[in-house]
Amino acid sequence: MQSMPNHAPTPTAVKADLMVCPRWIIPVEPYGVVLEDHALIITSGQIVDLLPREAAIQRYTAESIETLPDHVLIPGLVNTHTHAGMTLMRGIADDQPLKTWLEDWIWPLETRWVSTDMVRDGTLLACAEMLLSGITTFNDMYFFPEAAAEAVDQAGIRASLGILAFEVPTAYGHGADDYLNRGLATRDALRDHPRLSFMLAPHAPYTVSDATFDKVATLAAQTGLGIHIHVHETQQEVDDSLRQYGERPLERLARLGILGPQTLAVHAVALNDSDIALMARHNVHMAHCPTANLKLGSGMAPSSQLHAAGINIALGTDGAAGNNRLDLLSEARLAGLLAKGMEQNPGLFPAHSLIYMATLGGARALGLQDQIGSLAIGKRADLCAIALDSTATLPVFDPASQIIHCAGREHVTHVWVDGQCVVKKKHLTEISHGEIYAKAKTWENRFRG
Ligand SMILES: [Zn+2]
Repeated sequence: MQSMPNHAPTPTAVKADLMVCPRWIIPVEPYGVVLEDHALIITSGQIVDLLPREAAIQRYTAESIETLPDHVLIPGLVNTHTHAGMTLMRGIADDQPLKTWLEDWIWPLETRWVSTDMVRDGTLLACAEMLLSGITTFNDMYFFPEAAAEAVDQAGIRASLGILAFEVPTAYGHGADDYLNRGLATRDALRDHPRLSFMLAPHAPYTVSDATFDKVATLAAQTGLGIHIHVHETQQEVDDSLRQYGERPLERLARLGILGPQTLAVHAVALNDSDIALMARHNVHMAHCPTANLKLGSGMAPSSQLHAAGINIALGTDGAAGNNRLDLLSEARLAGLLAKGMEQNPGLFPAHSLIYMATLGGARALGLQDQIGSLAIGKRADLCAIALDSTATLPVFDPASQIIHCAGREHVTHVWVDGQCVVKKKHLTEISHGEIYAKAKTWENRFRG
């Protein structure tokens, strides 16, 4: 606990758990605002006030006060597409096209090794990297979500876990029905966890049958769960679908009732105008994963056209086996630069819009906008503090610009999830580096052998 800055509180001061006093706050709601010398007040993990610092010191007395004199405080970043368990395969097979990468490398390794231990250890490594990168929520799609949940619980991060569906049997189950049943059972067992939520996660149009999509659509209607799915990741996926079904994947998904305002379409790279119109008509959200798309040579999502069509764009890293970083700040910067360069329009995606994509846009895509994504009173206290006092980030005329165009995840100093400090002065509070290191090395040796 640090001493109170300046004045003491009045005798009638209201008790709070935590007062964060950064130089700047970008609350994201309202859009485009930068507050200077304000304080955020947190009690029981919830944001209860946001007010000028002098007034805060008069009105509140806090258990803990964090003064961050050269920092900008933003909502925790929301990574809307991951396969966290795959982090253990980081760098194992670079420079391959998606089909070869999956069929010759990833799927054989997964067939041999996927287990609850692998998913727990890989997810813990991912959680550690993400927290240190300012990410407070991730939306995952992988085997054994019950094992991922254990890592999430330990790390203190927030996650939306996938209730998987695809046809091929694996160590996790016998096929689509089994995966759905297992995922739903996991959700039932964990539904009271304060930092866990779930989405239905049919893998992709090319791995899921019409019959399974019918079941997913019915489950979504019955449970209110959102749908998280890879869509139009490559032109080959579109061409294969035209051959096999006589329709483009998005047309097929629309026919099967999969597209809607709670659907998150990941990648959306190979799109024509009618695909964009279809996504807009169904109010589908889009998870933009520019690094993964570039690195696999898949192409680039037409983000400016999607934005112009009114589609909510969120950001994702995809798995570290493909990206190979779980670094949403660098995705935000890349998303902006790509759109500006490809469209030859520097006015596209100003810094505040990219911060929005990385926070509230992500929360909306996961159906969590009432809980997280902005520093609004009543929301959960998921926070990320970024120091702007280093050579790379000085001088500071516009903190939003510094976040996107100068700062990197190495400038993230403090992270809170649900009001709990999980990164303090660039160190994890809930996970030891020694544990992460030992687990990663164990799996490295297994995969080599
Ligand atoms: Zn993916």
